[in-house]
Amino acid sequence: MVLWIVLVILLLALLGVGLVVVGRGRSRRRAPGAPPAQAQPTPPASPGSVATVEAPPPRAPPVEVPVDGTQVGTPIAPADLHQGMGKTRGLVSGYFRALRARASVDARTWDDIEEALLRADVGVATTTRLLEDLQGRVQRGELRGPDAVLGALHDDLRGSLATQAGTALRVDEGETNVWLFVGVNGVGKTTTIGKIARQQQANGRSVLLAAGDTFRAAAAQQLEMWGDRAGVPVVRGAEGGDPSAVVFDAVQRAAARGHDLVLADTAGRLHTKVNLVEELMKIRRVADRDPGHVTEVLLVLDATTGQNGLTQARQFLDAVEVTGVVLTKLDGTAKGGIVVAIQRELGLPVKLVGVGEGPDDLIPFDSAAFVDALFA
Ligand code: GDP
Repeated sequence: MVLWIVLVILLLALLGVGLVVVGRGRSRRRAPGAPPAQAQPTPPASPGSVATVEAPPPRAPPVEVPVDGTQVGTPIAPADLHQGMGKTRGLVSGYFRALRARASVDARTWDDIEEALLRADVGVATTTRLLEDLQGRVQRGELRGPDAVLGALHDDLRGSLATQAGTALRVDEGETNVWLFVGVNGVGKTTTIGKIARQQQANGRSVLLAAGDTFRAAAAQQLEMWGDRAGVPVVRGAEGGDPSAVVFDAVQRAAARGHDLVLADTAGRLHTKVNLVEELMKIRRVADRDPGHVTEVLLVLDATTGQNGLTQARQFLDAVEVTGVVLTKLDGTAKGGIVVAIQRELGLPVKLVGVGEGPDDLIPFDSAAFVDALFA
């Protein structure tokens, strides 16, 4: 009898130890940021395994988030504006070099400046205004020599860009922020959304993408590819479906799962302008309905289209209240002066510029750095 009692006690003791070991194992696996228990490193997740609507919102490791939320966090090497503006600078510097080589200011000086600015797509109105101002100052003896004229042009350009509204992107803490991206097909909307998703994740924000361009199946696929890269979930609908429904669904999911930011793509077909206007107005209304909160409407423009982009832009301004411009493909054109025309003629701040196709080739627009890069 005593032997039986001892055996039962021993068995119970052994069972207890086993449970404690299992329990510890589980809690170790759950510990946030704990190193893998195995000596073998875990292989990186395949791209397709991340960006589904079912995936829980992945959180980037905490990094310092700047106030405007637009600066690139630690994992990202920001692209170089100076390098991205190589073509525009190449064009402008050719004229400026010729101008500097002459001893005095004459009719050719004004021709060179005018041609440089017009070819860089600064626009007729701004070029005329800048030239008249400089000519007046030379006549009054306030400026002497080509270098002084170029110095004054540099300062005037800086001044005219700096007076525009700020470039910060708005995120209201504790809200389900929605940023809508509008613009015609091919300007770089999807690419821009992918780049921003990556940057905002790196800033510690939890992002969700909404494939609101239901018109083209390829658009949603492309967005999913960017979602995979950035490790953010994507909400998409049926091809040809109602884009407002996709955005609505995305906002609901974002609110339910605690995402800070929904980046919503939209279709950019312009051939049926009335439909486009109505569609965008509806998407905006739906996105702004509680718990959604539209904090940016970003018009994406392709710098290579130069002044033609302004005509396109006006059509979108009729439809939605645009808060800023993302100017893409600055690297591929000598028409970088379009930045000045956008800010002065449309009255919109350029908030971001795209300087390449890579995931990190999107930088916050800095007017001083822009003018410096132009004159460097
Ligand atoms: P969407 O139709 O407006 O969504 O445009 P996409 O995002 O599909 O972009 C159209 C093309 O432009 C793609 O080949 C992109 O890689 C390219 N692109 C986008 N942004 C930039 C940029 O800043 N620089 C360059 N060189 N190409 C870009």
